[in-house]
Amino acid sequence: MNKTTLRARTDEDWARELTSEQFRVLRGKGTEPAFSGAYWDEHAPGTYRCAGCGAALFRSDAKFDSRSGWPSFFAPAEPGVVEEETDRSLFMRRTEVHCTACGGHLGHLFDDGPRPTGMRYCINSAALVHEPTDGEPSDLP
Ligand SMILES: [Zn+2]
Repeated sequence: MNKTTLRARTDEDWARELTSEQFRVLRGKGTEPAFSGAYWDEHAPGTYRCAGCGAALFRSDAKFDSRSGWPSFFAPAEPGVVEEETDRSLFMRRTEVHCTACGGHLGHLFDDGPRPTGMRYCINSAALVHEPTDGEPSDLP
């Protein structure tokens, strides 16, 4: 699947592939309730992929406990895999974060994160699929 094809998909196309919660978040810019998602308390090493298109968006080594109830990262997996956009809904000015490849809404970006970046990518679990890393050194005999 190339980027153009992903970006050209209609809501009907997405609705066929996503769960209703994934669709609500990724395509409807919804937000899951705090402490309700699958990954806010996930500590296993691995890669967090876009639930829409599978792009590698975040890694566990940039995940931190923000106590917000949403998975939080101080940096994306690679520069450019997520895009930012100013969101003026709800009478607030926030920075919205979406997947560069498919345009799916992921969450919001705040500037109160830890070092080294000072950034906090506050992401909905429903927008992510955690892919555990196999063969971690600590698991070796
Ligand atoms: Zn995506």
